[in-house]
Amino acid sequence: MTPSSPIAKSPPTIANSSNHDESDKTVSKRSFSRSESIFTRGSKSIPGGVNSPVRAFRAVGGSPIVIDRAEGAMLYDVDGNDYVDYVGSWGPMILGHARKDVHEALVKAAEKGTSFGACTEREVSFAELLCEIVPSLEKVRLVNSGTEATMSALRLARGFTKRDKIVKVFGGYHGHADYLLVRAGSGATTLGVPDSAGVPKGSAQDTLLVPFNDIAATEQLFADQGKEIAALIIEPVAGNMGCVPPQDGYLAGLRRITEQYGALLIFDEVMTGFRVALGGAQELYGITPDLTCLGKVIGGGLPVGAYGGRADVMDHVAPLGPVYQAGTLSGNPLAVAAGETTLRILKTQNPYPQLDKTTARLVEGLKAGASQADIPISFNRVGSMWTGFFQAGTVTNFDDAKASDTERYARYFSEMLQNGVYLAPSQFEAAFVSIAHDDAAIERTLEAAKRALAAL
Ligand SMILES: *Cc1c(COP(=O)(O)O)cnc(C)c1O
Repeated sequence: MTPSSPIAKSPPTIANSSNHDESDKTVSKRSFSRSESIFTRGSKSIPGGVNSPVRAFRAVGGSPIVIDRAEGAMLYDVDGNDYVDYVGSWGPMILGHARKDVHEALVKAAEKGTSFGACTEREVSFAELLCEIVPSLEKVRLVNSGTEATMSALRLARGFTKRDKIVKVFGGYHGHADYLLVRAGSGATTLGVPDSAGVPKGSAQDTLLVPFNDIAATEQLFADQGKEIAALIIEPVAGNMGCVPPQDGYLAGLRRITEQYGALLIFDEVMTGFRVALGGAQELYGITPDLTCLGKVIGGGLPVGAYGGRADVMDHVAPLGPVYQAGTLSGNPLAVAAGETTLRILKTQNPYPQLDKTTARLVEGLKAGASQADIPISFNRVGSMWTGFFQAGTVTNFDDAKASDTERYARYFSEMLQNGVYLAPSQFEAAFVSIAHDDAAIERTLEAAKRALAAL
């Protein structure tokens, strides 16, 4: 797979990074002084110095690196350090950074105006493309983030079923709406505040919880309260407790139970959509949800979210139906240009077998390195989405994930940063491989991991 050349002038420097002389194994200590001073300055005008909490290095210590630019699989910080990037903007950058074709689509769109607040032809072709790619979509509405997508889908589910209760799993993250910030994963786990301040008791009282991968518990909950439940919302492959795949039959079981009680099944594919397969987890596992939430990859690096599904349900959304949902910048021409270009490339190139192969090679290499260093790390992977949990046990749900040695992860994270690899600054996140991650990037990562584990 050869992605089109990135826009930046300088060639990628994966093989001979200035900080990594291959002949000399002693790595010169990287300086982060400019990052530190910008972050300190930012902390005076931005709460915690970040515009989203997981970006802070609270869980791993130290000061966040401040990014100057990115290209392909690489990030470059303001101190001139380079990194193989496994965060990928938390999922969107499946094509790698600064793709020339995406950039060109953006420039072309910008020349025609950046926002109209009115209908465009491109939003129509984008919606058609989405309905073609994602198996369960008959109609789809664009929004600006994953959070908006889940909020809107749940309001719709409640309006459609005329029921109030919703079900989510422990450690499932569906954005930061009040009633969803209950035992949420990701940043909430990392910060040790599973329930946010400022969420009224009343708004979370209709949110019911079951463990991930536990059909018996779900069955029991629905037997007790099924007639009051509007929807079950789930990440079909959990990503925000770290990557945790669904066990055999789990998603089919959820499909059966929700149907039996007249509740809607909502797949939150904000992370898994266009990631684990072109059509998302619903294509990979062959399960059709009633509604699907999309985000991340769908915007190709710009802010886009979407929710869609059964036409009879979607027709309850305003202006056709009584469920209100709106957005000044929804379907924004720039965002749609980046998203549509990204999805068309994915559809045409079908990079998924390649992504799977590359990521398998990476994870197998990391596994071998860990066992050589005698450090227990338990790896989960679905396609190009993976997590190495610092523990010996198998991770099948949130409780398992929480048993990881987060202090050891923090030390590993810092060592990897020193060795030119950017991982998520938290144990409870999925890592992402892009089609720009070539053999050199994988080699460099495995080499870095060897050094990092030796230093633990
Ligand atoms: C990232 C994410 C969200 C929230 O999306 P935002 O664009 O950050 O609002 C919701 N659900 C899942 C599964 C996610 O991974």
